[in-house]
Parts: sequence; C-alpha cells; structure tokens
Amino acid sequence: MTPQNITILGSTGSIGLSTLEVMRLHPDRYRAFALCAHSQVDKLFAQCREFHPHFAVVRDAKLAEQLDALCRAAGLRTEVRHGIDALNEMASLPEVDAVMAAIVGAAGLEPTLAAARAGKKIMLANKEVLVMAGELFMRAVREHGATLLPVDSEHNAIFQALPADFDRGLSACGVRRILLTASGGPFREKALDELHCVTPEEACAHPNWVMGPKISVDSASMMNKGLEVIEAHWLFAAPPEQIQVVVHPQSVIHSLVEYTDGSVLAQLGNPDMRTPIAYALAYPERIAAGVEPLDLFKIAHLDFHAPDFERFPCLRLAYDALSEGGTAPAILNAANEVAVEAFLNRRIRFDQIHQVNRQTLDEWTGSAPQSLKDLIELDTRSRSVAQSLVGRLK
Ligand code: NAD
Ligand code: MG
Repeated sequence: MTPQNITILGSTGSIGLSTLEVMRLHPDRYRAFALCAHSQVDKLFAQCREFHPHFAVVRDAKLAEQLDALCRAAGLRTEVRHGIDALNEMASLPEVDAVMAAIVGAAGLEPTLAAARAGKKIMLANKEVLVMAGELFMRAVREHGATLLPVDSEHNAIFQALPADFDRGLSACGVRRILLTASGGPFREKALDELHCVTPEEACAHPNWVMGPKISVDSASMMNKGLEVIEAHWLFAAPPEQIQVVVHPQSVIHSLVEYTDGSVLAQLGNPDMRTPIAYALAYPERIAAGVEPLDLFKIAHLDFHAPDFERFPCLRLAYDALSEGGTAPAILNAANEVAVEAFLNRRIRFDQIHQVNRQTLDEWTGSAPQSLKDLIELDTRSRSVAQSLVGRLK
C-alpha cells in the first residue's frame, strides 16, 4: 500500500497533535507531506524530526529562517516555507491526497478553500470556515469534486448516523431533525451572578475535552454550539428549525439523527478527538485510533437537558444570525474572535463577549460578499468594529 500524503494545517495545535498521534499508529497508510503551523518553531521542529515532512510552513520569513537552521543542523531534508501563499500551496499541490484543516479561526479560510478548489479530500476541523464562508466553500467543494469529511465530533457523529446519500436532502432521506449534543461547558451550573467574573483559566478548564484556548472559551459561552449549528446547516443543508441543541453533560453521545419513522441513530464514544480524526483519515474504512473502548457500565447513566438561552445568550445569537443569513454569520464569527481574544487577554469580562458580538451585529451589516476578497474585507471591517467596541467597554 502506498501511504497517503497528508497536509496538516495547524499541526502544532490540539487537533494537529491528535492527528499526528493517529498517523503515528499507521505509518504504512499515512505520510506527513506538509506540516503547517504559526509561530511555535520548536514544536514544529520536533514534529519535523519525527515525521520527516517534505515541507514545513511557518508564519514569516524570520521564523522560517530559524526553523530552516534547525532542520539543516539536524540533517533533515524538509523544505521550509512561510506565509499564506505557502499554506495555499500545501493545501493544493498535486501530490497531496488529504488535508487536515485545523488552523483556528478565519486564518484557516484561504488554505481550506484552496484545498476545496483543488478537489482534495478535506478533513474539516475548522468550523469558522463554514460560519464565515459556508456558501462559497460548499460551492467550491461541489464544483471541484472535493470530499468533505467533518472532524468536529458532533458533525462527525451526524455524518456517521446519516445515510451515505444525504446530499439528496434531509427530508428526502426521511430525516426529521438533527440533535446536536453539547456538554454545557464548565459554567453549566455556575450561579448566574458569578458568570461575569470568571477567569480565562476557569473558562478554559473544560470538563470533558482538552482543546485549544479559543474553542475552550467558545465552549464555556456555548458560542461553540452556536457556531456548530451554523456548521451543521451548511454541511447537511439543514434549516435552523431542524437543528435541536441537546445539553448532554457526559459528552458520550456525540450527536443524533432523528428519522420520520421514530428511529433515532446516535454515535457514541469516549470524548477523544482521535476517533473522528481516524474516521476521517480512513473513510470509508475504519482504523485503530488509540482510543480506549467505551465502558458503558462505568458510565452507567446519561443525562439530557434543554439549552438555557438566558445563561448562554451567544447560542441564541448564533441561531438568530443563521436565520438572518447574509453577512450576519461572518460578522458574528469575526466579532467573536476579537471578543474571545480580548477576554483571554483580560481586556473584557466573560459576559462582555456576548455584548461585543451582539453590538457588532447591531452596528453594521456590510454588503453580501460575492468572492473570497469580499469576504476577507467583510471579516476585516467586522473585526475593526468589534475592536473599537472592546476599546469602549469598561
Ligand atoms: P489550537 O489553538 O490548539 O491550534 C491552532 C493551530 O492553528 C496551531 O497549530 C496554530 O499554529 C495554527 N494557527 C493559528 N493561527 C494561524 C495562522 N494565522 N496561520 C497558520 N496557522 C495558524 O486549536 P485547536 O483546538 O486545535 O482547534 C483548531 C480548529 O479545530 C478550530 O477551528 C476549532 O474550532 C476546531 N475544533 C477543535 C476541537 C478540539 O478538540 N480541539 C474540536 C472540534 C473542532
Ligand atoms: Mg464540536
């Protein structure tokens, strides 16, 4: 078997590391073709030493020089590149069989779109791509015959529970609803009047998952579930009223699909991203992921609750943005990236994340983007509106 060439966009992040862990178990099947990161040169160098990629990509020329020096000194043949053009190239070179899209936030849009336009197999972790550019991205996937495999655990679960030909339409397949599970994050039961003073450390301490800082804060505000509702809308052509969020604190059921005959199909497993990553890597086969088998006797019971929109107003905001359509989801995504970063840097309080998001949506609408360039402009303008709101908050 010739190993598949894999490009990892965001190899030093939480998803990137889990992807390499699964690949490490299957050297006969997968080969790291390009490892792309932002600024963590030492971590990327360690990955180059172990996986010997053809290419490694970092943010800028200075970092590239550092990494190149380390690679030369170690006798590695990895070619070091930098910048957005290099990311786009690594996502689309003819030798590449599959791309793991695991850069966080809007920064991942261009290379993920480049992978779609090159007709690649895309393992999509970066949900922000679909939130900001759902229509453009899905069109590129269709027009260029790319294969899109969701890695986000809920969407991976839904993908597994849907029939293979779900793209003929959910109703045509007898699907009544998608049930998107949510753990509720670390603040599910915290007193409402204490939510304003939680710290970034508390927000990042997720009860079930270990993830990067941005998605951890999004999980604490449940904006993550809101982004996932929008992600599900684009992946499965599901209208918002057919997507029901179900709070399920154990994170054992990763999501469910309800059919018109009353059947409900669920995918279960331990909360470990290596499962959906292995599923996407091997699709349509199954391979070992290094994940412990699920012990149902130890779990013993599973709980379910309706989502609390008062506690988690960001979730409502996402539903509203999806219903409004147009530029609203992209503006919300940009505002949220700015707000989360400001919260992580202790410039705003936790409850002000929602305030920045809502006010950015109230203050400006922009005009409907027709192209990638328009979308990037919309993203930039939305960020500056959100930044000035952050500056005005006390
Ligand atoms: P992370 O912060 O741990 O890692 C982000 C990665 O992106 C790093 O490798 C970083 O170097 C790279 N990166 C950041 N900015 C970049 C830029 N401008 N150019 C190039 N590279 C850049 O994040 P994560 O938790 O691994 O999440 C990655 C994506 O996957 C997010 O979109 C997140 O929503 C999604 N996701 C993550 C999980 C999870 O369990 N971590 C689950 C589902 C979905
Ligand atoms: Mg998820």
